[in-house]
Amino acid sequence: METKVKKEIREVHKEDLQILMNDINEKSFRVQQIMEWLWLKNARSFDAMTNLSKNLRDELALRYTFRPLTVNKTQISEDGTIKVRFETFDHHFIEGVLIPSTDRLTACISSQIGCSLTCRFCATGKMERVRNLLFYEIYDQVAILQELAEKHFQKRLSNLVFMGMGEPLLNYNHVLRSIDKITWSKGMGMSPSRITVSTSGIAKQIKQLADDKVKFNLALSLHAADNEKRSKMMPINDSNKLEDLVEALDYFYKETHSPITYEYILFAGVNDSDLDAANLIKLCRRIPSKVNLIEYNAVEGTGFVKPDHTILDRFVSTLQKNKVNVRVRRSRGKDIDAACGQLANKG
Ligand code: SF4
Repeated sequence: METKVKKEIREVHKEDLQILMNDINEKSFRVQQIMEWLWLKNARSFDAMTNLSKNLRDELALRYTFRPLTVNKTQISEDGTIKVRFETFDHHFIEGVLIPSTDRLTACISSQIGCSLTCRFCATGKMERVRNLLFYEIYDQVAILQELAEKHFQKRLSNLVFMGMGEPLLNYNHVLRSIDKITWSKGMGMSPSRITVSTSGIAKQIKQLADDKVKFNLALSLHAADNEKRSKMMPINDSNKLEDLVEALDYFYKETHSPITYEYILFAGVNDSDLDAANLIKLCRRIPSKVNLIEYNAVEGTGFVKPDHTILDRFVSTLQKNKVNVRVRRSRGKDIDAACGQLANKG
């Protein structure tokens, strides 16, 4: 006999829940209660839905599954950064990070299990891509980090960045679907202006974001503003050349009026020269943008190291003299491998 695979409850449309309530003689307002449990109170089991009768919870469990992420491990850095290892229903691990700073409380989350791209400086890039995360798994990371934010800092998340494991634009539909839920006014209600999706640069999908008129911010992991250098660090650049990315970003800006953030990790002797700065300045003149210069944390076996402070200062002042809006981002959570490029399910 063919066994029917149960749908995850969060995949089920409101209209279908309505039909079910009619079928089992439950009142219509139950649908609203279920939606609130799922997207406002972030229930992660049927039993948690305590204002539904036991009978109704059993009916739901009979028809649908619940596949929430669970917390496998939590580590707290000496600088307050919290790294969480989540386990998926099929026993894979991903990581998310909660980063407190003076004016922000940022959650950094993953979009894939592993990554198919092989950026040379990145620990995740050394892992195989297992699968894309489902939209509710992406959502669960935010919900769990939100709970930790309230527990440890008595604050709600102020910002959300898709900069953990994986390339978000290679999991396009589920990433956008998760953001729909994260920003839903009747649910978590985070403003899209507080959300940044960071891509290694998939030109076609950047144009798709523009066509979809997204309201969140877009960041490009640039790391070099010339093709030869960028390809050496990021093989994805072979198929998505800077010219194509620039054209896609111009289009994105035209359609969304949203400035671009360029993420630029400085690597000693690789992309930190005056010529590298000049190339970056030229790129920044095209459309409104800002540059986040990120301090690198050595990842074993990559051969990349960060430059010393004099080089960093010189690079920053060259950009500033040329009116580039630049900020230096010190890495956080280094001692627990939670910093940029370090997420690899190690801890
Ligand atoms: S930097 Fe991002 S896209 Fe590149 S390998 Fe790491 S996780 Fe994948």
